[in-house]
Order: sequence, then C-alpha cells, then structure tokens
Amino acid sequence: MKSRTDQLQHIKENNIDVLVIGGGINGAVSAAVLSAAGIRTALVEARDFAGFTSQNSSNLIWGGIKYLESFEFGLVRKLCRGRNRLLKAYPTSIVETRFIAAVGTRATHSRLAIWAGAWVYWLLGGGFTAIPRLLSRSRCAKEEPVSAIPELLGGVEYSDGVLREGDARFVLGFIKRATRCGCAAVNYTSVTSMKERVGRGWEVVLRDEQSGDSLTITPKAVINAAGPFVDRLNHQSGVETTHHHRFSKGIHLIVDRLTPSRRVLSFFARDGRPFFVIPIGNRTCIGTTDTLSRSPEAVIAEEDRQFVLDHINTHLNLKRALTRTDIIAERCGVRPLAVAHQDQTETTPFLELSRRHTIETDPERQIISIFGGKLTDCLSVGDEILREAAKLGFKGHPGDWFGEPPLASRESFCDQGEELLQDSEADIDLQRLWRAYGEGAIEILGRFARDRHQMELLLPGSDLTRGELEWVRENEMVVTLDDFLRRRSLLAMTFKAAELASMPGLKVVSRILFGASGDTCYNRWCEGAGLTPRQVEADDSGDRQQQKESQCKPIAHSSQGSPGG
Ligand SMILES: Cc1cc2nc3c(=O)[nH]c(=O)nc-3n(C[C@H](O)[C@H](O)[C@H](O)COP(=O)(O)OP(=O)(O)OC[C@H]3O[C@@H](n4cnc5c(N)ncnc54)[C@H](O)[C@@H]3O)c2cc1C
Repeated sequence: MKSRTDQLQHIKENNIDVLVIGGGINGAVSAAVLSAAGIRTALVEARDFAGFTSQNSSNLIWGGIKYLESFEFGLVRKLCRGRNRLLKAYPTSIVETRFIAAVGTRATHSRLAIWAGAWVYWLLGGGFTAIPRLLSRSRCAKEEPVSAIPELLGGVEYSDGVLREGDARFVLGFIKRATRCGCAAVNYTSVTSMKERVGRGWEVVLRDEQSGDSLTITPKAVINAAGPFVDRLNHQSGVETTHHHRFSKGIHLIVDRLTPSRRVLSFFARDGRPFFVIPIGNRTCIGTTDTLSRSPEAVIAEEDRQFVLDHINTHLNLKRALTRTDIIAERCGVRPLAVAHQDQTETTPFLELSRRHTIETDPERQIISIFGGKLTDCLSVGDEILREAAKLGFKGHPGDWFGEPPLASRESFCDQGEELLQDSEADIDLQRLWRAYGEGAIEILGRFARDRHQMELLLPGSDLTRGELEWVRENEMVVTLDDFLRRRSLLAMTFKAAELASMPGLKVVSRILFGASGDTCYNRWCEGAGLTPRQVEADDSGDRQQQKESQCKPIAHSSQGSPGG
C-alpha cells in the first residue's frame, strides 16, 4: 500500500469513476470488488480504516442462530452461506470453532429445544460444519469446567466461525487488496460536502484530517458506505432514501483468559439474548449488550459494564468474581440496523428489527447507499455492489477480490520460517504472521533472513518483532500509535493501556513507526488513554532528539529500503 500522500495525490490527479465513502467492512468490500473488476475506484475514511463500528464487533462469522427464535429462516440461511464462503476462502484467519451453549435452570429455552434448533441451524448451513452434540451436565462440566455452576443442566455444541486476528485486520485485508488493483484508499480523510452535478456525477469536498487541507474531486458516482453515518451524509447531500438506520449499542469487555480451550461459550442473558465468552488472541472477550442508542457515537455506561460483569459472574464457575479491575480493554459500537420507513424507525421495538442489509441505488443521481450489514455477510454485499454499479453504467467482470493466498504459498512460508527460526532465541508465531499478513509474511521472513537484528522482540509478552513492525510501517498506513495497537495488532486487547505505557519497548515501537515524531505520538497516545507519558528514555538505537512536531506523521519510506528505527 502506498503512503497517504501518494494515495491523496492519486485521488487528486486521476479521474475517479466511483468514490466509496467509509472504510468499514461495507466500504472495504465495495472498493475491493469494484477495483478488481477494473472500475476506477477510490475510498476515503474519516478515521482509521475500520476505525468505527467494524472494530467493535464480537469477531464472529456466524449464521445468526439466535434469529431462528424470530423464525427468520431466510436470513439465517443467507448468513450461513456467507459464513461458509468465508470459512472456505479464509482457512487460517477464520476458523470453524465449536460453541457450547450452556443451559441452566433459568434459561429461556430447554436443552432439547436448543438441540433441535442447532440441527435446524446445521441443516440451513448445508451441513458444512461439524454436527451438533447434546451434552449432559457432567459432559459439559468436564469439557468446560467454567460452565459447571449449580444451575447447569447441560449444553449443546455446534459450530460457527471466529476471526482469529480480529475484525479490523479482516477489513484492512479488503482495502489492501483494493489498492493492489489500483484503488486509491486513504484514511483520516473525510467527505465534508457533496453536491450533485446534474447528469455528470458529484462534486465532493474532502478534508485531510491530518493536514487540514481540502480537496475537491468529481467522481462519476458515489457509494455511501458510511455505516451509522449513512443517513447523516445523505441528508446533508439532499439524497432521499426509503431505508434509514436505527442504532443498537453493544459492548464487550476484554479480560484475562477464562478457559484454556479455544471454544466459544454462550449463555442466555436476562433479556433472553445470547451472551458470549469468546477467545481473542490470548485473552477472552465477553459480551454483548443490545440497547437502543439515539446516536452513532455511543459510549460505555457504568450499567453496561455492570450488566456484562454480573452475567459472567452468574453464568460461570470462576475462582473469584470478576470486577472492574479485571477489565483489560473495552469495546463499544452501534449496530446500524436497516429499517424500511421513517415511521417504522419510531414504532417497532428495536430488538425485533431484522439484521438484514439493504442496498439502495439511485441510477439518476448516481449514488448507492448501504444500510445495515454484518461482517459475516460481506461477500454478498460485495457481489450486490458489483451488480448495482452496473445499473449506474459501471460494468466489469468479477475479479479475484477476496480470500487468502493459495495453500502452497503458506506451506512454503512455514517451511522457510521453521528453518530460519530453528536456531533463533525468539519465539515467533509463524501462523500468526501468516494469518495477519498473508504473502506479506513472506517479505517479513525475508527481512529476518537478511538481518537477524530484525528478529528482535520489542514488547515483553508479545512476539512483535522489529522486522514485522517495519513492514507494517511501510505497508499499512499507520497514522497514530492507536492505529497500530488497536487495529493493526491485538496489543490493545492484550494489555491494559497503563501496562503498555510502562513498557520501555512501546517508545521504541512508536519511534520505529513514526521516526522523529515517535515520542510525540507516544505522548499523544498516553494522553488519549488518560495516562501520564512515561518520562524514561527507552533503551534503543532510535532517534532521541527532543520532539517538536505537532502531529504524528508516519516516516517517509520508499518501496526499496527500510529506514532504521
Ligand atoms: C457490538 C457489536 C457486535 C457485532 N458483532 C458482529 C459479529 O460478531 N459478526 C458480524 O458479522 N457482525 C457483527 N456486528 C455487525 C458489524 O460489526 C457491523 O454491521 C459492521 O461492522 C458495519 O460496518 P459498516 O462498514 O457499515 O460501518 P462502519 O464500520 O462504521 O464503517 C463506516 C465508516 O464510514 C466512515 N465515515 C462516516 N462518515 C464519513 C465521511 N463523511 N467521510 C469519510 N468517512 C466517513 C466512518 O468513520 C466509519 O469508519 C456487530 C456490531 C456490533 C456493534
């Protein structure tokens, strides 16, 4: 991926056919499918890529077993198909995972009813996954000792998928793929206004949130993939749609590993909704909630936190109850739910609203708006966008726009990696590198081979190496330290912010990413996390000069060399 400056220059200098607004999952798949079909596409994202809803999901690629309760068989079948396609296309980063639905005396459904539901689910999923199992109380307690509370009656085991490297990295994968097909994609760049040029597309004003500069471009068509901001943007631009959004807030808490297995455990919350215990890296993610939010910018309330902690303490047999001090990190987002009419947005109880996505196309005004959606359904969204773009006159053949590199590349990477790391002290997880970077992992290995210094581990308790970080700096458009800790890696989900800040290696990380601005970026991140920046100088070979820059700027790079950290 070229630098931000190059991407912005590309947008300025080239005629763009389609401008995609929003770098969440819906925008990312739109950009990937259109550019792979040879359509001149650009994507702009006001924050970091996947910096809003798409970084706050449960990381599940699932067929939506809970929607069987509301008899939405069509939706479940569609989601199961989407899940199966993703499991096939991403064999290492999305893994079939066994879920155990633990059933207690207070559950809203009996164990047999859930078992029957799991079979219907399996059938709707075309029998793609391992078959469901009915678990007795003792079997459930033996396989998952944390589920053994006095009220436990037994459980049901079934399969769905989990994103091993997290939702944000999954989204970034599509954006990187789009750029390889010629799409210009840039983060921290907002659409501030849009005006229709009757019969000639749109005049769109962009603001570079880093420099404050504005830029006007004239794409022939626009895709509004602004997630929870779709209505706001349409309203500002005078675009009328049949569908609108309502928002459902959901939160997750990240805590230390609660069970050694990589299974997902599920329970029924007080309101009858399923509640999950999900592995994330080497931690556990617990949640979620589902409450009405009037605004896209939702924040975690104390009662949300308490709801999640109470549930986990009630449904798991833990050595001691979890409290606020056990929380490593928090995630909060709103689900943009598509509703058909303005009046429905006000009257229908929102827990009953369907979780389907809808795409509205206005061929006259040359604009497409995407409402709702799930990570799980992203390939369908991409397919539909290609069809809708054809209605606007942009015809292209579906290209190769998703999926992991071929198995043979992975095998060769693993062989080379194992040989290279044979006599290295560093305990580097090759599988993680492959899941996160695909063929980029081969380049990282090349760095290790050329210079063993590149295998230096930077943070205790993690296998982040200098070589990996330098590769990320040159290929993944990291603008702030939070981009790296929260969305390019799982580090912000693995360590408490204060713990990270106290690691001398974090300053080294920041200097490798941002060169002379490294300490400023580190201080900014600390301030953002409500911490006092650690004053000690890190013991590294990086630039220690007093920092004067006012912005976090990634250091310049060429595709040839790799400037030292
Ligand atoms: C708590 C929770 C749990 C979930 N769990 C799952 C799950 O396990 N599995 C699953 O499949 N789905 C799940 N979902 C649903 C899924 O995460 C969302 O539906 C999806 O991420 C929405 O993606 P999006 O691209 O529509 O929106 P977003 O990810 O919000 O992307 C829209 C982007 O547009 C940008 N933008 C807005 N305005 C502008 C502008 N003017 N200029 C430029 N950019 C702009 C925003 O910054 C934003 O990044 C969950 C959602 C939540 C909230």
